[in-house]
This record gives sequence, structure tokens and C-alpha cells, in this order.
Amino acid sequence: MFYRHTVADRFLEYVKIDTQSDPHSATIPSTEKQKNLSRRLVDELRDMGIADAHLDEWGYVYATIPSNSEKPVPVICFCSHVDTSPDCSGKDVKPIVHRKYDGNDIVLPDDLSQVITTKEHPYLREKIGEDIITASGKTLLGADDKAGIAIIMDLANYLITNAAIKHGTIKILFTPDEEIGRGVNKVDIKKLGADVGYTLDGAKRGSYTDETFSADGVVVTFFGVSIHPGYAKDKLVNAIKVAGTFLDLLPKNDFSPETTGLREGFVHPVHVEGMTEKAAVEFIVRDFDTKNLLKHESRLEEIAKLAVSRYPGASYTFDVHEQYRNMKEVLVKYPQIGENVVEAMQRAGITFHRESARGGTDGSRLSFMGLPCADIFTGEMAYHGKQEYVSIQDMQKSVEVLIHLVQVWEERS
Ligand SMILES: [Zn+2]
Repeated sequence: MFYRHTVADRFLEYVKIDTQSDPHSATIPSTEKQKNLSRRLVDELRDMGIADAHLDEWGYVYATIPSNSEKPVPVICFCSHVDTSPDCSGKDVKPIVHRKYDGNDIVLPDDLSQVITTKEHPYLREKIGEDIITASGKTLLGADDKAGIAIIMDLANYLITNAAIKHGTIKILFTPDEEIGRGVNKVDIKKLGADVGYTLDGAKRGSYTDETFSADGVVVTFFGVSIHPGYAKDKLVNAIKVAGTFLDLLPKNDFSPETTGLREGFVHPVHVEGMTEKAAVEFIVRDFDTKNLLKHESRLEEIAKLAVSRYPGASYTFDVHEQYRNMKEVLVKYPQIGENVVEAMQRAGITFHRESARGGTDGSRLSFMGLPCADIFTGEMAYHGKQEYVSIQDMQKSVEVLIHLVQVWEERS
């Protein structure tokens, strides 16, 4: 049957609403303006007939599309985030649709130095003939993650207007503050009541992410001996210098984000602070294999010891705290989550690509909070910057995949 997708029209409206989050704010959500989009989404869901759609006190949107199946089917949650990155302005976004993209570099009209080139963005070469949406040169676009929002909204519209499509209960969740790492802090997993989840926050057509880094934070603190510098001979030990030696001893050719890729892990200093008496270096430690975190941490501690050994009288402490864990550790117990996506993509006529994210996602945290959750593509590319773009056809394909996916879950239940 013929269905006119609403995903692009919705997307073009949602990106005009500024929803930038703010890491320096202590409020929940971090910026009040995120609710401007969330309220609109609630109104649109209610207009579709989804009666329980609501915005909670923390800025989360919850909604339920009731099951129309006679069978018990696992409850599926689809989740996206309303906020955009603090790295680039999201105010007064002027989306531009480049119809039937011709394969040339795209010059953004409001800042001619902003050129989206096929050299830097080779994926664009696969998009010739499609309709590409960009911003105008002064802001990001916000496809991360308003593409995901528009896709889920179009799915809801499709299911409501096509009652013949059989599906179980579907939960919709729109979160604030994902970009500042607080996206799932106030999710009420019990109230949500879903068995499995999918975030819609991925990139290329066909990509499916069921693996993220495992992550620890480490603080290495060096202690010196502080003496009045006029009378310090043979007594003073400067903790700042110990920290400097330590940083210099870090390997130059491996062990760092700038020298590793694919499946390699790393340690990465992110903050230094110090005085003569005490200096601290904060690290993030990352690897796909949680066991390797311990190896990286022992190697880092050996380097700290070596630095301290060069400064008699100095000492150190080494504190590790867990940040998040690879979602795969949870998802391996729920093979259907991936298998059903493989089948749905096949029915949608696209090639399935399993990806590993060299970072964390809301899905990795949700998975450990009790909602096993992988990620499906939206088409959002070059996010967090002015050269962000998305293909309308990729967004439509993502909707199509979800339509098949809810049916696959129903059929296989
Ligand atoms: Zn995102």
C-alpha cells in the first residue's frame, strides 16, 4: 500500500526548535528550552490518538502505542534524544533541502567557508540522487538526534493509520541531555515497562550498533613536599614536576586515542590540576573488553610509579571509578534483539552492518539499568558541527526498517 512518509516534514520543523543542552547547568533538564520540542512531540502524539503521551517533571516524554496482536509480544521501546550538542550552536537553524543531490561539494550559503566535500565525507558519494538536508553554515543541523525523533514519530503515525500491521505494545521514550551524558539519569525503567529497546541515534544506512566501549575514570594524584622556596634546598619535592614527568613518560606511539583505532583501547588524560604539594591528573580509560581496562590501569600505574621513583620523597595515589560498560555484555543474552533487526533490514532491502561504537551511548547505560538496548541507523552524519547532514531517503528507510521490525517481533512471538 502507498504511504506518504511524514519523517522529512517533521524533521524540518523539529530542527528549528533550539534544544541545545548545557554541561555547566545543574538543572534537570539542563536547559528549559529542550521542553519546547518535548511539549510539541506530546501534542503531536496526542493528536495521533496516543492518549497517554506526556512530559514528566524531568523533561522525558513517554507514550504507548497499544498492542493489536492477540499474542503476548515483548514490549519494545524506541528511544531518541531531543537535545543537540553544546559544541555548536543550535539556535535559528535554517535547514536546506538539496533535492536530487548531484555529487558535488555542498557550499553552505550563510558561511561560504563551510563546504561539505565528498573527500571528507565519502558517504555523500553513495547519496547521489537522494535528497540531502544540511544547515545553512552558521549552526549545526541537529539531525543528531532529531532524525531519530522524526523517524519514531513517523513510525507512530504509520502504525496508527495502518491498523492491519500487527505489532505488540510499543513504548516511545524521548530523553533530554544525552549530549552531556545525563540522558538516562531520570528514566523510570519500571514505569516505561519495556522488555527490549532500540535507540535511534546511528549513522549510515544499515548500521546497527550492539557494542560500545567499557569505560573507567582514573585519578592519579602525586604528593610532594612543600617548603618555603627560599629555604628549600634538599628538602622541597614539587608535585607539579612529578606530574609533568609522569605525563612525559606516557607512551608516544600507542596507548592513546590519537594513536589507536578499530578495536584497540587507550588511556587519555583529560584534566590536570596542581600545586607544589599535590598535583592530580584525571584520565579516561577505554576498551571494548572490560578485562583489558584492568591491564591498561596497571600499565598506567607502573608509569606513575616510575615517575615517583625519580623524585625521592614523592608519593602517589591511584583511584579508579567505573563509568559505563560495553552493552554487549548484556545484549549477548538477548540474541533476538539483533536477529530481528537483521530480518527487518532484509525485508527493507538493505544491507545490515554490525558496528562497534568507540564511545558510550544511552543504550549502554539503559542495558545495564535493565532495558537491553541496541542502536539502529538514522542517516545522521558529521554530527556536532556545521557540516552535519542527513538524507531524507535514509530516514525513510529507517522508518521502513522499524515497521518491519515490529512485525518481525510479533510474528516470532
Ligand atoms: Zn545522538
